[in-house]
Amino acid sequence: TSFEGFINASDRDYAIDRYRETAQTALQSVRDRLGKTYLPIIDDRPIQTTDYIESVNPANSTQVVGKIGLASIEQAEAAIKSAKNAFSSWKQLSARHRGDILRKAADLMEAQRDELTAWITWEVAKPIREGDAEVSEAIDFCRYYAREMERLESGVQRNLPGEDNTYIYQPRGVVVVISPWNFPLAIALGMSVAAIAAGNTVILKPAEQSSVIGAKIAEILHAAGLPPGVFAYLPAKGSTVGAHLVKHPDVHLIAFTGSQQVGCQIVAEASILRPKQKHMKRVIAEMGGKNGIIIDESADLDQAVVGVMNSTFGFAGQKCSACSRAIVLAPVYDNFLDRLVAATRSLKVGAAHHPDTKLSAVIDAAAQANIQRYIEIGKESAKLALSMPVPDGGYYVSPTIFSEVDPDSTIAQEEIFGPVLAVIKAENFDEALAIANGTNFALTGGLYSRTPSHIDRAYREFEVGNLYINRGITGALVDRHPFGGFKLSGVGSKAGGRDYLLQFLEPRSITENT
Ligand code: GLU
Repeated sequence: TSFEGFINASDRDYAIDRYRETAQTALQSVRDRLGKTYLPIIDDRPIQTTDYIESVNPANSTQVVGKIGLASIEQAEAAIKSAKNAFSSWKQLSARHRGDILRKAADLMEAQRDELTAWITWEVAKPIREGDAEVSEAIDFCRYYAREMERLESGVQRNLPGEDNTYIYQPRGVVVVISPWNFPLAIALGMSVAAIAAGNTVILKPAEQSSVIGAKIAEILHAAGLPPGVFAYLPAKGSTVGAHLVKHPDVHLIAFTGSQQVGCQIVAEASILRPKQKHMKRVIAEMGGKNGIIIDESADLDQAVVGVMNSTFGFAGQKCSACSRAIVLAPVYDNFLDRLVAATRSLKVGAAHHPDTKLSAVIDAAAQANIQRYIEIGKESAKLALSMPVPDGGYYVSPTIFSEVDPDSTIAQEEIFGPVLAVIKAENFDEALAIANGTNFALTGGLYSRTPSHIDRAYREFEVGNLYINRGITGALVDRHPFGGFKLSGVGSKAGGRDYLLQFLEPRSITENT
C-alpha cells in the first residue's frame, strides 16, 4: 500500500440530472419513514427504555423525525461492561482486519449516499449540498483511519549489535464519544471509527438533537460486520448519563466535540482519579471558534465577498469553523461591506430540503433564542447592516451583518454559533492581525490578499489551527486539511490528520538483549 495521496470521496455533482432526481427520491422516501422509534443498542441488541425524546425537523418543528429512547445510568453501566468485554478480543485483531470492516462501512455509505444526505437534511435542517459533503467526509474518515492504523501498526524497528529495539502501539480500552449535532454523521462517526480502527471499543452518546443519525451510524457499522460490543449506541441525557460515562473508572478516553463550556467540564471531571481506576484518562476536546477573515487592500473582492459569505452563512453559521468576523482594511472597507450585504441579501432562506435553499433554520428553540439575544446585544454596540425576513414554522434566524463593530465587544469575542457576522475595520495590516488574534480561540482563520509579504506574515503570525489563504475557511477535507485548533478551541491533535490516531493508542518500547 502507498500511504501517499489519499483520495477523498467525491461529492455528488448535482449539475447531473440523474443526481438531482435520486436526491429528491431519497428525500421523499426518508420523509415517509420519519417518526419511528430508535432505542439504544448494546451488544447489537436494542434495549427498552422508560424515557423518550422527540427529534424534530428544525425547519418545521411539528415534524417529528424520530422518537428516541434515552438510556438510563444502569444501561450505561451495561454498555461499559459490554465494551470492556469486547475489547479483549477486538484489540487482538490486525489493523487490516479492523480496517476492512471500516472500508466496508465506507462502501455501504457510498451506496446509500442520497438516503444519508436526506436523513441529515430532515433531522438538522442542513441544505442538501452540505449534507452530501458531510457524507463524503464520513466515508473519508473510515477509509483514512483504516489506512493510518495499518501504517502505524508496523511500528519502528531499530536494531543495534546486541540489542533489538521495537516500538509499537497498543489500543487504550473503552472510549466514550460525545458528539455534536452540527455534523451528526461525519464527526460522530469520525471520532468513533478512529477509536475503533486503533483497536478500542466505543460507546457513542450522540447529541440529543441528532440521535436518529446516531442510530443510522449504528446500523451502518453493524451491517459492515463490526462484532457485538465494539460499538454501542447510547442516546442519553448529557447532564446525567453523559456525565456518568465521563466519570466512570473503566473509561480510558473521552472524545468530545462541542461547546467550550462542556469541553472544560469534561477535562476537569476526567482528571479526577476514581476508586478502582487504574489509569489516567485522556480527553480529546474540539471546542469553539471565533474565526476571522482578513481582507486587505489588495484582495480580489469578487473572491472575498463569496468566500466570507459562504464561510459565515453555510449551515446557518453552525460550524465551529464558520467565519464570524470579517476584518477589513480601511481602503476597501465600504466597498467590501456594500458588496457583501448585497450578495447576502440574495441568499435563499427556507426549508433545507428545497434544492435552492442556502440557509435554513437553526437547530432548536434554545439556539434560536440565544442567537437572537446576541443580535440584540449587537444592535446596542454596532450598526445593523443587514437583517432579512425569514419564514415561519421553524427555528429561523435572519442572516445578520453588523458593521462598525468594536473588536473587543461581545459580538466580536463570543462564539454565537449562528448566521451572524461582525465586520470590523482595521487601519493597517498589523492592526488586522492583532484583531484576528485577539480572541480566546484559535481554530480557523483566513486571509484574502495579493500581497506576498502579507501572506508570508499570515503563515507565521496568524494564530489558528487551520489557516486558509484566498479561499473560504470551512469544509476541511480529510488528509488534505487536518482539522482542529488550539488556545480555547481545543485539546488534541487534528481530525483527519496523521497524528490523530496516536491519541487513541499507547506506545510501547521493547528492548531485547541479543
Ligand atoms: N470540519 C468542519 C469544517 O472544516 C467543521 C467542524 C465543526 O464545525 O465542528 O468546516
